[in-house]
Amino acid sequence: MIPEAFDYHVPKTLAEALRLLGQFGGEAKVLAGGHSLVPLMKLRLAAPKHVIDIGRIAELRYIREDNGKIQIGALATHFELESSEVLKKKCPLLPETAKEIGDVQVRNKGTLGGSLAHADPAADWPAAVLSLDGEIKASSTRGERWIPARDFIQGVFTTSLKPDEILTAVRVPALPLGGGDGYLKLHHPASGFAIVGVAVRMVLGAKGTVDQVSVGLTGVGPKAYRAGGVEKSLLGKPPSAKRIEEAAAQAAEGIEANSDLYASAEYRAHLARVYTRRALEKALERASPK
Ligand SMILES: Cc1cc2nc3c(=O)[nH]c(=O)nc-3n(C[C@H](O)[C@H](O)[C@H](O)COP(=O)(O)OP(=O)(O)OC[C@H]3O[C@@H](n4cnc5c(N)ncnc54)[C@H](O)[C@@H]3O)c2cc1C
Repeated sequence: MIPEAFDYHVPKTLAEALRLLGQFGGEAKVLAGGHSLVPLMKLRLAAPKHVIDIGRIAELRYIREDNGKIQIGALATHFELESSEVLKKKCPLLPETAKEIGDVQVRNKGTLGGSLAHADPAADWPAAVLSLDGEIKASSTRGERWIPARDFIQGVFTTSLKPDEILTAVRVPALPLGGGDGYLKLHHPASGFAIVGVAVRMVLGAKGTVDQVSVGLTGVGPKAYRAGGVEKSLLGKPPSAKRIEEAAAQAAEGIEANSDLYASAEYRAHLARVYTRRALEKALERASPK
């Protein structure tokens, strides 16, 4: 299919991109890796009058660590996150998540910022960024703001970005001493997207009790979410196999699970519990008391 006609803009700087977006607002779409936007335009499910290609803005492509925080530019590709030595050492959950996304071509073009801004309910990054208590930087000609990951994705393909804002960076805390994390996913056999994806970060205290635990799920409901019940059941307690199993049983609590030809709502909720248990076990195996 051929998309509707549009004007194509190629800004070289963020300032220029923000000015263009400010000018065209709701009539424009930002283009990053194009792996979600271009198919939508070809199917005419999206028909922007202006496409602002931010792909050549070098200042949005970086991964760096600063004072225990990792900051990643919106244009970092899935492959760059997968292969980053800084991340493998300081935040291994991110490379582990990246390698579960699509295939090599998708990982070479698709970007962290594009995936989060797109807010596909079965995308992998939202679960990981939620479990890390990440923050998302939104920039416009009016200024900048950091949005907590919990408030960023609001529903199916819906975020709290305003029409004149570009997602410019993501910030997450590095893995603390004694911490372990892990991402587990059941791939849809046709699309490769998550039927269920679970990201966990766990930190053990000196006595081996759970000092910190956060669990992000994707693919189960209309948007990625934190499994608060699971976290609460584990906090402050020794993470025995039985306790982990009981905690994981709450993974889909309060969530209206999606249903499709591959997985009914009941089966998805079951998978959420099973994959949460396994992801918790994986994170625990990698954690050690401080
Ligand atoms: C065959 C295939 C398999 C895939 N498998 C998976 C998978 O297993 N897991 C997974 O998570 N994803 C998967 N994807 C999606 C892939 O990760 C996309 O790259 C990603 O969803 C969008 O990133 P992008 O950079 O390509 O964004 P684009 O397609 O360029 O943009 C997507 C949307 O986000 C907006 N946008 C992009 N960047 C910004 C920004 N910085 N600020 C504001 N708005 C922005 C655009 O306007 C558009 O609305 C797959 C895609 C394909 C084609």
